[in-house]
Amino acid sequence: MRTGNRKVKLLIGIAIVLFAVIKYCSSAETNPYTGKEQHISISEEQEIAIGLQSTPQMQAQYGGLYPDDNYQAFVDNVGEKLVNNSIAKKTGYQYDFHLLADAQTINAFALPGGQIFITYALFSKLENEDQLAGVLGHEIGHVLGRHSADRMSKQDLTQGLLNGVAVGIDPSTAQGAAAIANIINMKYGREDELESDDLGVRFMIKAGYNPEEMIGVMKILKSAAGPNRTPEFQSTHPDPENRIQKIKEAIKKYKTSQ
Ligand SMILES: [Zn+2]
Repeated sequence: MRTGNRKVKLLIGIAIVLFAVIKYCSSAETNPYTGKEQHISISEEQEIAIGLQSTPQMQAQYGGLYPDDNYQAFVDNVGEKLVNNSIAKKTGYQYDFHLLADAQTINAFALPGGQIFITYALFSKLENEDQLAGVLGHEIGHVLGRHSADRMSKQDLTQGLLNGVAVGIDPSTAQGAAAIANIINMKYGREDELESDDLGVRFMIKAGYNPEEMIGVMKILKSAAGPNRTPEFQSTHPDPENRIQKIKEAIKKYKTSQ
């Protein structure tokens, strides 16, 4: 009796895993802007809706918008220049750039569909317009690369696998699987960051900015880290040294293809 029960559980577990894998694999598509193969289960319209819906929450989390309209206009101007001169304009995304009031947290991020944010803490550390273009270009890269949507599908897959293992075998194994799944997802995150740096350099060159200043941004991030403090931006991003090398390669690649 007990053995039979275990068999049924195992079969259900396998079914859950198979369902998650099939769903993930059937969502394969090539990103038209980066040429990369991805697994995405939501549409561009859904990405835009998710981004717009989460924007007020994001703003509240970082102390609202920065009160100075001139700075906000400056951020808008640089962001629009990057979009209007690159493939970003050819997408259906709606780009909005938000300067957040938070003067402590060094951070910049993008929601799916085109909502892009930079904190005053990071903004005030930048030395010139080109560096701001570097930060915003990187974030536009996340939107175009559809990195959030990609990660959402991966999380779905991970959850499906974990549920399957938990039902089919036992929870202690599921924990082991969770640890492995985490590492896999982190690795993808890193690749996303490097792809965004690469796209950021490409947008900077197209819009007439000096792409070398992307390296300046990395140096600012590195020195902002300090001995005991890791800024949020950096905890989710690869080591700036590592990124600098890749940025140099991207500059060479896009400059010669102009
Ligand atoms: Zn990033």
